[in-house]
Amino acid sequence: MNTKDCKHIISFSSPAEGEGGLTGEWRTQKPIINQDKCIAMKSQKGVCFQCWAYCPESTIERRPFPTINYKYCKGCGICSEICPSNAIEMRNEFDENNT
Ligand code: SF4
Ligand code: SF4
Repeated sequence: MNTKDCKHIISFSSPAEGEGGLTGEWRTQKPIINQDKCIAMKSQKGVCFQCWAYCPESTIERRPFPTINYKYCKGCGICSEICPSNAIEMRNEFDENNT
C-alpha cells in the first residue's frame, strides 16, 4: 500500500505481555500525574502529551487526558523527566500513599 493511502499518521505500538511477564511487575518507582500541574488537563485541550510520546512502553493513553496503564508501566521515569511542568512525580512503588 502506498503510504499516502494509509490512514495512520504515525506508526505506534500497543503494550502486550512478553516472555518476561507484564512490564508493570518490574516496577519499583510509580509515576503519579498531578492533575493540577498537567498542561493537558488544565487547558482542557489536546495539547502537550509529551509523556505519551516518549513513554517507551506506550503505556500512557490519551483519553482525552494522559492516563497511565500500570499493568505495563515499568517505572523508568522518562515521562517524569520529559514533562515540561513537572506534573509527574515518581514515588516508591511500595509506599502506601502512592495512589
Ligand atoms: S507531559 Fe506532563 S504536562 Fe504534558 S500531558 Fe504529560 S503529564 Fe501533562
Ligand atoms: S515510568 Fe512513565 S515513561 Fe516509564 S513506562 Fe511508566 S509511564 Fe512509561
